[in-house]
Amino acid sequence: MKLTEIPVDGIPYDHLRIEKIPVTPAFAPRDPELLPASSRVLVVNPDRICMPIGAMWAVLGIHRAIPFVQGAQGCTTYARYTFSRIFKEPATIATASFHEDAAVFGGRMNLVEGLRNLVVRYWPEVIGVVTTCSSEIMGDDMTSFIGEARMKLQAEIGPERTEQIAIVPINTPSFAGSHVEGYDRAAKAFVQSLATDRDAPTNRVNIIPGLFYPGDIREIKHILQEMGIESTVLFDISDTLDAPLEPPQSIPYYPPGGTHVAEIKGMANAAATFALQLDAGGSGARYLERKFGVPAVVGPVPVGVVATDTLLQNLGKATGCATSPALRAERGRLVDAMADTFHHTMMKRVAVFGDPDYVSGITRFVCELGMTPVAVSAGTESKNFAAAVETVFSEYQSLFLDPPKVFNGSDLFEFEEYLKTLPRLDLIIGNSKGVDIARELEVPIVRAGFPIYDRFGYQKRPIVGYRGAELFLYEIANAVLDHRYPDDRTQQL
Ligand code: SF4
Repeated sequence: MKLTEIPVDGIPYDHLRIEKIPVTPAFAPRDPELLPASSRVLVVNPDRICMPIGAMWAVLGIHRAIPFVQGAQGCTTYARYTFSRIFKEPATIATASFHEDAAVFGGRMNLVEGLRNLVVRYWPEVIGVVTTCSSEIMGDDMTSFIGEARMKLQAEIGPERTEQIAIVPINTPSFAGSHVEGYDRAAKAFVQSLATDRDAPTNRVNIIPGLFYPGDIREIKHILQEMGIESTVLFDISDTLDAPLEPPQSIPYYPPGGTHVAEIKGMANAAATFALQLDAGGSGARYLERKFGVPAVVGPVPVGVVATDTLLQNLGKATGCATSPALRAERGRLVDAMADTFHHTMMKRVAVFGDPDYVSGITRFVCELGMTPVAVSAGTESKNFAAAVETVFSEYQSLFLDPPKVFNGSDLFEFEEYLKTLPRLDLIIGNSKGVDIARELEVPIVRAGFPIYDRFGYQKRPIVGYRGAELFLYEIANAVLDHRYPDDRTQQL
């Protein structure tokens, strides 16, 4: 049945995918000059979103914290919508609600009044003030605005209660970077504002996980627990953006989890800081090292055998704690799963895209599986990315006839057009933004990275650590099986 118009009783499920009609009967090749994202002033199908959202993600991982967005309502609404789509949870985010008058006179009154209203209605313990394009272009002086807001609060609720509220400014001009840098700036801003003294060194470690999901953070905590290491996980979203559904114990409601302010204050006393993602959180770790001498261990992204081994070794060196029999068994199970599946993963040609740290971590893992990465793309331009993936390629040279194509700071239009030129592609690994590319190329996609909004439960399933890699491997292997073998063949495997 051909649908010429949408019927009044709706479109039946079997017609939801509408047949594409080419604009011209002949194939019109793309203008090669317009293919590289670097030669265009236009981004087509971007693989990154705006900087404040990374900072909001971070603030939502603090206990009783609310991000306050110094900008227009749209800068907040789309972030809340994005978080709801990914985590299927409400995200409380306040806004300064800029209108024309703020664009003319600046956002001072919006911030002062807005913080006051937020405090007397929600009584947060922490407010992360996240700037936006408009407030940065206007040049809002956040330090003096926050000082004025504090004075107003002191007059209304008293100095003692005002003192109990931490207000952390995070500068996130979106035109200067993406969500990855937003998270990174938040990590630095929080330790800079709150971790101010190294007065009682401990054997605890700091973990800055980066833009990993609740399932990944739980897996990291499991590793730490197995090794008997006490830790502070900065921006622990595992129990704020994946909280159990229970009747609220009090109004206003705050989920039970998140990093406590006291823990962040103690981060300067830690034995080491582990930033698991280089581009998202590394600045916080390096700040603590420069300022207080807390050793920073930045990366590698702990996906797969080698990177997880490295994390465990580094944790052991920093704390003197040994790995446990349970972790060794998990490692053994992962290696066993790799042996069980290698004849399906070996030499499969895979394209990986997403945030730079996700891509470099996953690229190493697929090489461990004997797969051949043919193209890797970081949607956010990164100083670390090219070196990270080139290191992996040099370690696994035997997998490649031709060097894989590396895109750094590209868009998915350029990535897709390149994939179309390849003689064969078996799998794509990336976030939900690549689903249409996978359909177009008739190649399976395994979802990983930020954001995943078209599946349930992905925020709970880890890809880090030995257990996470094992689950991830099964998804990869099963996607290959689904695509390459008819059902009656898979029963004989
Ligand atoms: S890009 Fe700028 S204006 Fe647009 S939502 Fe982000 S901060 Fe707001």
